[in-house]
Amino acid sequence: MEYNLLGNTGILVSRLCFGALVMGPLQKNLSIEAGAELIEEALMLGVNFIDTAELYGTYPHIRLAMEHTGLRPVIASKSYAYTREDAKKSIDKALTSLGLDRIDIFLMHEQESEHTIRGHWDAFEYYLELKAQGVIGAVGISTHHVAAVRAALNVPEIEVIHPITNKSGIGICDGTMDEMREAIDAANALGKGIYGMKPFGGGNLLHSFKDCIEYVLGISSLHAIALGMQSLEEVRMNVSLFNTPDKMGEILQAYTPENKKALHVDFWCEGCGKCTERCKQRALDLKEGKLLISHERCVLCGYCASSCPVFALKVY
Ligand code: SF4
Ligand code: SF4
Repeated sequence: MEYNLLGNTGILVSRLCFGALVMGPLQKNLSIEAGAELIEEALMLGVNFIDTAELYGTYPHIRLAMEHTGLRPVIASKSYAYTREDAKKSIDKALTSLGLDRIDIFLMHEQESEHTIRGHWDAFEYYLELKAQGVIGAVGISTHHVAAVRAALNVPEIEVIHPITNKSGIGICDGTMDEMREAIDAANALGKGIYGMKPFGGGNLLHSFKDCIEYVLGISSLHAIALGMQSLEEVRMNVSLFNTPDKMGEILQAYTPENKKALHVDFWCEGCGKCTERCKQRALDLKEGKLLISHERCVLCGYCASSCPVFALKVY
């Protein structure tokens, strides 16, 4: 397994980062034990970096995996908090749920531009205070927007960026992959730590799995790449791919990917429109009370499901 320093943070991470969204309640909804088993396998195979978020609901899975293995991976989490009070609640929840007194990386979730960064600054200042006390290791943003990466170039306090990166630019809300690449190269040159997300465009690019992996592995500005994993077979295959990318053809021949996933809306949808406001990809639309899904735009993040008051949305 290749390990890289995450920019100037001093944090050493495996290039393969375990993305904990997919196994959690927003998607596969594995039990805590089943999810922990996947993480344990990844940790035992050399992965030392886990990406999660308050929204993902996977703190218990990570905690159990740490208890079972005795290993302490680098953990990155995120929150939507924009006030100091809410930021404190998010950090308290992360530490209590994970059973830790320190978290390695904490990010402002889904930043869009300099304006949203400014809007969350009260929360960010709290994270900076905790960083000064040693409770947080490094701070930053996650984003689907080129504008947010560009904005981070002018904010020295932002040390880590978690941008969407895939060969087709699927899920980038305001530009192309070339523009995103230019922005992350500039961030890398400034010493910021960068780890990508959604190399398969949320599943939309699974038909060209090999090209997708080769594309992100070829971006030297990506110190790590988060991959969502939902089975032991996937964990082992991804570790093999990252360990021996020159054998990618053989590894993939022996692997049967899971059926392509999609977002589904249940018949009890009440047409309230909350999910359409929540989707930053503009993949949802309400027409005469009926919810329409644009599967081309959907990156299967599952975030809309968290906003539905009647639990009518599911990714499977
Ligand atoms: S429709 Fe839902 S799952 Fe698809 S991109 Fe939008 S928020 Fe994510
Ligand atoms: S939030 Fe739920 S109930 Fe409201 S429109 Fe979306 S799926 Fe339907």
